[in-house]
Amino acid sequence: MQDELNALGIDPGRPLLISDADEVLFAFMEGFESFLNSRGLSFSWASFRLNGNIIDDRTGEAVEARAVRSLIYSFFENHTRTIAAVDGAAESLRHLGHHLQIVVLSNIWSEFRDARAHALRSQGMPYPVITNNGSKAPAVAHLASLTSGPAFFIDDSPEHHRDIADLAGDVIRIHYVSNRRLAGLLGPAANCHHHAHDWPGICSFIENCLGVGTS
Ligand SMILES: [Mg+2]
Repeated sequence: MQDELNALGIDPGRPLLISDADEVLFAFMEGFESFLNSRGLSFSWASFRLNGNIIDDRTGEAVEARAVRSLIYSFFENHTRTIAAVDGAAESLRHLGHHLQIVVLSNIWSEFRDARAHALRSQGMPYPVITNNGSKAPAVAHLASLTSGPAFFIDDSPEHHRDIADLAGDVIRIHYVSNRRLAGLLGPAANCHHHAHDWPGICSFIENCLGVGTS
C-alpha cells in the first residue's frame, strides 16, 4: 500500500485532506436502504450496525451476518457508479482545493475502486481514490508523513478516529455522518477535533485551521 500512497505525488509543502467516501461524500445509507427495500428487506434503525438490523420483510427475522456481507457486496457491485453524492460535498471540496490537496480513502473492495472514482468524477469530485481494508490508521499516518502541512481526516466511523488518534495524533480529525438519523444513533465520536453537521461546516472549520478567510 505504501507504494500506492507514494505514487499519489503528494506535495510536501501543501496541506492535505484525507476523506472517507461512504456517509461523507456519498449518501450510503439512503442508497443502501432503497436497495434493501427493492429486495423485500428493511433496515430496522434499532442501532447503527448493519449486522442484526437488516430484516426480511416476509419473516420479520434479521438476516444473518454472512448474508449481510453478501448484500453489502451486491450493493457496491450494482450501485457504486451511481450512488448519490452528499449535498455540498463537491462544492466544498472544490473550494477547499484552493488551499489543500485531497485524497479519498475508502474501505471498499478494491475491485470497485474504478467505479468509485467514476462516481466521484461524474459528480464533480475528481480526486484520487485509495481503497483500504480494516484500520485506516496506517494509511493515514503514511499519507500525513508525506506532507509538512497540516493533514485533515474526515470519516463517519468512530473506530477510525480512535485508531488515528493512537497512531497519528497530529492529524486533525473531523467526525461527520451525512445521514442525520444514522448520526443520531452513532453519537459524536471520541478522539476528534471537530464534529460536523454538514459540508459548509467542515469547510469553515478547515479554513479556520488553515487561517484562510471564508468566501
Ligand atoms: Mg464511511
